[in-house]
Amino acid sequence: MEYIINGYRHASFFHYFEDISRIPRGSGNEAGIAAFLKAFADERGIECTVDEYHNVFMRKHATPGYEDVAPILLQGHTDMVCEKNADSDHDFTKDPLSLYIDKNGLLRAKGTTLGGDDGVAVALMLSLLDDESLQHPTLECLFTSAEETGLYGAHGFDCSQITARRMLNLDTELDGEAISSCAGSADLLLTLDTDREACDTKTVDITVKGLAGGHSGTDINTCRANAIRMMGRILAKLYDDCPFHLVSIAGGNKRNAVPRECVARITALEPDRAIALVEEEFARLKKEVAAADKKLRVTARLGKRAENRLSYHDTSTVISMITLNTNGVVSMSPVNPEFVRTSANMGVITTEEGKITASIMARSSCDSEMDALLLSYKRLAKLGGWQYLLDERSSGWDMNADSQLAKDYLRIYKRLYPDSNPVVNGIHAGLECGIFVSKIGCDALSVGPTIYEVHSPNEALDLASCERFCDLVRAMVSEKA
Ligand SMILES: [Zn+2]
Repeated sequence: MEYIINGYRHASFFHYFEDISRIPRGSGNEAGIAAFLKAFADERGIECTVDEYHNVFMRKHATPGYEDVAPILLQGHTDMVCEKNADSDHDFTKDPLSLYIDKNGLLRAKGTTLGGDDGVAVALMLSLLDDESLQHPTLECLFTSAEETGLYGAHGFDCSQITARRMLNLDTELDGEAISSCAGSADLLLTLDTDREACDTKTVDITVKGLAGGHSGTDINTCRANAIRMMGRILAKLYDDCPFHLVSIAGGNKRNAVPRECVARITALEPDRAIALVEEEFARLKKEVAAADKKLRVTARLGKRAENRLSYHDTSTVISMITLNTNGVVSMSPVNPEFVRTSANMGVITTEEGKITASIMARSSCDSEMDALLLSYKRLAKLGGWQYLLDERSSGWDMNADSQLAKDYLRIYKRLYPDSNPVVNGIHAGLECGIFVSKIGCDALSVGPTIYEVHSPNEALDLASCERFCDLVRAMVSEKA
């Protein structure tokens, strides 16, 4: 076999990476890679099971002298995101990726995603399992499927097979930064049944736009404004000074994104006054959010005629819900005060004939804090006569100040690279670790090499950081302390 990555210390890791890059493995298409892994294990007499999700689990017994050391689990996902440039004719169901090293020494795939996320985990586990010189306790390796489309492999895996109570997840993308916490999430729907009354009045259309938005987890601490909440404020103020009926409200389009726009149509007794008041409020808001949201625009204009509208009572109920719900950062981690522990994002609001619906995504690395947040939403829904529906919920992985793996990581990384400054952080979004920590109650840590622009055809893997990734995981596996 011809390999293009040569001249590195961890040759076996790079060659396995090239081997698996020949096997199509987009999410939902993991049968081929699972068969490859099973054949690898069978050839070497390694214990191996494959389940109906195409999760592959291998176990290698402790080497002499390591029988009394606690078993360790390594884990990563086999599937990859399939994205390609418009001019690429790559077929992700059958073509091998076409790898090349660019002039900066980064590994890329021609016109497509590289699958470094999370091919590096697969290659590393194979290179360790294949190495008869490596000293290790019972080594368990779990290759999960369908991570990128909803962590389905991890959810479906029968964890009773796992004997290890410490795990290294190999799915982060920055050398020198390990992750020791992730957020669970809950999808909430609040619905208000509305009675509409007939009218024949021109509306005033109020628009909030130009906000920066962002990811409802990883950007929630950026202080960027939420367009629906901002509309709530504007309406609440207006309602006191110049009563109106709400005709409709619509904002945001994804529950996991901070909404950038919101439009409300109202009918006011004094439309000109309503417009003037909104403009006055815009001047104040603009100053308030200038640092994070320079491009905010709030406009109020006369619109078309409305044939029906909400009652004063329902109008008031909608404004109350938007302004009173818990939104944005709810709490910071008591272990690392720079890390968000719990948050909520009202991401979408829509008006249909007869009802108004708001979608909220709540996140927390602490399950009991999430319980409390959901209860507060439930109470608020009860107060205003809204229906409360909890759609989906997953567990979080809370930061643990006493994590032995985190301590090992910092000590070993520093020992290997005395000039480095390794850190342990959390991520306010979902990772497979959250599922395993809640299912088997293990100590966990997530590490990886540096990968740029994952999930895009510009994905690039830093080969030098892969050498350190291999050094680090080998050392952590062989560490007896
Ligand atoms: Zn990944």
